[in-house]
Amino acid sequence: MWQKARHYKFNDKTKKQRAFNTMNDTASKSHWYFRKAPDGNADETTFEFVSEPREAISEGGIRVATLFLSLDATNRVWLSDWDIYMEPVQIGERMRGFVLGEVIESENKDFPLGTLVTGLSTWSEEIVSSGEEFTQFHSSGDQDLAAAFGAMAVAGPTALHGLAAVAEIQEGEVVLVSAAAGAVGQLAGQIAKLKGCRTIGIAGGEEKCRRLRERFAYDVAIDYKQGDIESQLKEAAPLGVDVLFENVGGEVLDAGLAMMNDFGRVVVCGLISTYNAKEPVPGPFMFRNVIMRRLRIEGFVILDHIEHYPTYQRQIAQWLREGSIRFDVHTVDGLGSAVDAMNMLYSGENMGKVMVKVSDRALN
Ligand code: NDP
Repeated sequence: MWQKARHYKFNDKTKKQRAFNTMNDTASKSHWYFRKAPDGNADETTFEFVSEPREAISEGGIRVATLFLSLDATNRVWLSDWDIYMEPVQIGERMRGFVLGEVIESENKDFPLGTLVTGLSTWSEEIVSSGEEFTQFHSSGDQDLAAAFGAMAVAGPTALHGLAAVAEIQEGEVVLVSAAAGAVGQLAGQIAKLKGCRTIGIAGGEEKCRRLRERFAYDVAIDYKQGDIESQLKEAAPLGVDVLFENVGGEVLDAGLAMMNDFGRVVVCGLISTYNAKEPVPGPFMFRNVIMRRLRIEGFVILDHIEHYPTYQRQIAQWLREGSIRFDVHTVDGLGSAVDAMNMLYSGENMGKVMVKVSDRALN
């Protein structure tokens, strides 16, 4: 169905839309529903993939065809019974996620046909909306859409905010990043390097460590799967660590805390090793270093800093355009693969930002 629509030769988007919608009017659209709270990793009982008749748009509303769905570690947190930073997803609701989509039907002048939009929406093939949750996404023709969306939506602003506003990194400092080959980690390392820092990345496995050095400009890569992270860190940072950009927690966090210099800053961006925990997570055992090394520890949630998004996004876009930074995306095909894609974040199978490709652009 999507393939056919792309072959229409109309120049006029309205005609294209009519043709497109006529073909799709009776079509069912798929959505993921949250069915059962997971005990550990999400599995086949956690969600249900449901095909439903197409919904009509309301007055002033829009219909968005999802192009890419961003898979983020926090998706799992939204399913937990923890007291978290926003409303969790409720059982019976469509699963929530960041999407990049194209407006394929519109009664809203702010969102003309063919507009690319991003927003916090649902794991759906198509989204019917008032437009409230969406903002326009501007991309230049030569840009890879998945990479641009992946870098701009969450990972780029998160890496930049954590380093610049929270850690206030200074030239010459030693910056340690965990989950360094992932979406946030690859950018954090490269940004710290651009700012004149020495960068040490921690990741799992030889291939990821090679990418840290060769693609993301890390000065040193540490493979935590080889064990004895502390000894590896001592060798990598003989003068200690000034900024720890923490994405993992657990043993990795402890090893980092043990390396901190006086007046160091620990940016708690994420604790992915704990999100699937079935029992309360102990530690960190080196918490005493908060006193001994006079550390500042600060957590943040990037959604609290939306007002800085335009500045962060401009900066990331410029670096990407200039080739000063790279951004690797791990794309999985088809909305039906969303749960497997989410679980890659926890198994570490992903080589870069995890994204599900849902469809191609229909109107442009
Ligand atoms: P990534 O692309 O980094 O993927 C997650 C990676 O985490 C995996 O590839 C794996 O890498 C590593 N990992 C998973 N489980 C473990 C484990 N038990 N021990 C050690 N490493 C593990 O994901 P994101 O970039 O989306 O997220 C990274 C972190 O940033 C998360 O903690 C997330 O919650 C946080 N985050 C926070 C935001 C905020 O606003 N504070 C916003 C966005 C993300 P490896 O193979 O190297 O083990």
